[in-house]
Amino acid sequence: MPNKPSEMEEEYYARLEFERRKKQEAEKQARIVEEEKNKLKELHYMACPKCGMKLIEIDYKGIAVDKCSVCEGVWLDAGELEAIARLEKGILDKWFRVFKR
Ligand SMILES: [Zn+2]
Repeated sequence: MPNKPSEMEEEYYARLEFERRKKQEAEKQARIVEEEKNKLKELHYMACPKCGMKLIEIDYKGIAVDKCSVCEGVWLDAGELEAIARLEKGILDKWFRVFKR
């Protein structure tokens, strides 16, 4: 059995090649997912989640709130609701005057 070691070698390299291409394919898939995510972000960035029109950012008392240019819905980023809840009464009243319809 003189060719046995080389057969094993062949098998080993075939598996190695499969693993290499499998990894390559996984990287390609991850890139596609990332591109798709970026495309969606670009498409929806600063668009109102309710009516789809553009949001306008209003920065008041250090809290930047997005208000819809059409339906006038007000949208908060992560942590902003907590920040608003921490405002003192006087500032909170002013804050609501700025954003009221
Ligand atoms: Zn809207």
